[in-house]
Amino acid sequence: MSIARDTWCRYCSPPPRDRLTTNVCPRCAEVEPLIIEKLGTGTLDSPDGFEEAFVFMGTGLVCSGCGEPIVQSQWTYPALQRPLRMLRFHRWCARIWEVVGMLTPQQDQPAAR
Ligand SMILES: [Zn+2]
Ligand SMILES: [Zn+2]
Repeated sequence: MSIARDTWCRYCSPPPRDRLTTNVCPRCAEVEPLIIEKLGTGTLDSPDGFEEAFVFMGTGLVCSGCGEPIVQSQWTYPALQRPLRMLRFHRWCARIWEVVGMLTPQQDQPAAR
């Protein structure tokens, strides 16, 4: 185990034994509020409407989460419905998006009765 326990991050650390930790690394701690805000304003869609990611080398395109260019692995999520769109993320941004997206209600969904 090369990752010290206090740097364990619930978003970008490898699949865990310790899923319940709330520790978030500094990088993810910066990106998390950006993604929460984008989900809240509708700038970023909920992960509900997207297929599983396929992953390939980044080409420097901008991440849909943090807005930084992606030069390592790029996680690309195709939309399930038209209009066909792609969301692109860093690995950790994708994870944050999946996690907080599931927790953030979408504004355009009908309210529960
Ligand atoms: Zn992290
Ligand atoms: Zn990113």
